Amino acid sequence: RSKVSGRNTAILYQPEWQDEQRKKSELIQALRFAVQNNELFLHYQPKYHLAKLSINGVEALVRWQSKDFGLVSPATFIPLAEETGLIDDIGLFVLKQACIDCKDWLAKGYDMPVSVNLSAAQLSSGMLPEHVLAILTETQLAPRYLELEITESMLMQDQKAIDSQISTLSKQGINFAIDDFGTGYSNLHYLSRFQAATLKIDQSFVKKLSTSSQHYNLVKGIIVLAKTLGLTTVAEGVEDQNILNILSRLDCDSAQGFLLSKPVQLSALYSLLQEKTAS
Ligand code: C2E
Ligand code: MG
Ligand code: MG
Ligand code: MG
Repeated sequence: RSKVSGRNTAILYQPEWQDEQRKKSELIQALRFAVQNNELFLHYQPKYHLAKLSINGVEALVRWQSKDFGLVSPATFIPLAEETGLIDDIGLFVLKQACIDCKDWLAKGYDMPVSVNLSAAQLSSGMLPEHVLAILTETQLAPRYLELEITESMLMQDQKAIDSQISTLSKQGINFAIDDFGTGYSNLHYLSRFQAATLKIDQSFVKKLSTSSQHYNLVKGIIVLAKTLGLTTVAEGVEDQNILNILSRLDCDSAQGFLLSKPVQLSALYSLLQEKTAS
């Protein structure tokens, strides 16, 4: 950014950069407001068991409907939330709402867990076990119905502090999934470091399954590896039937993706669940 060669470039470039900065600080302002004013809500994306083609779990995905900016993607606002510390409040909101909603579908007779994405910042505070266990007590949700999704890169940080929090929560019966598997600094060591129950194969691999033999072989290998280690596999980002068929043949356990269902509101999730039971 400092390599501005001529005067013209500088004049053309700077306002754009300033615009970006201004937009960013306005977003941060609005995000502060969002948490306090209930602009955040959850969508749920089902996971389908491939052999039974039934819904066997649901992932909570946070949404922000901003008064000023419209619907903002978590890919945009989660990094801002991490940068500003707002992630603590957002993370607690997501966890609590997900537990409340899971409790609700259990009461309606749908016996399936909820998965919640964690952010690195939530682990770095050291407060995660305390927060999670307090929310489980408050919502009266049994720990086995909560799965926490963490990414490989989150495991790269302060190992001791992270492992001890994960192990505290595991001992209580909470499950862990490794999200976006294959995209981080893939260090197979962490697969043995703690007892993750689930491995989610990143969509970038899944999408190329039918067109690239290299990706096909990679996914095949990941599934074999996961099975050997006793992990359940979930393929992310399944958008067409052909890929779903290949995953079935490779003995992948579950799949998620637009082909099966987009992330939806709780009420729409209930419609999906009803359809499934009816058919
Ligand atoms: P993720 O946890 O890997 O979630 C999967 C993302 O892929 C979601 O995007 C989902 O809508 C999208 N997706 C699902 N199926 C398909 C498909 O078939 N095709 C395509 N192209 N996309 C698909 P979303 O909801 O925008 O979330 C993006 C990321 O933001 C998530 O990736 C996760 O890392 C983060 N995120 C979302 N909600 C939360 C949250 O509550 N807390 C934290 N810390 N991060 C969150
Ligand atoms: Mg996830
Ligand atoms: Mg993912
Ligand atoms: Mg992701």
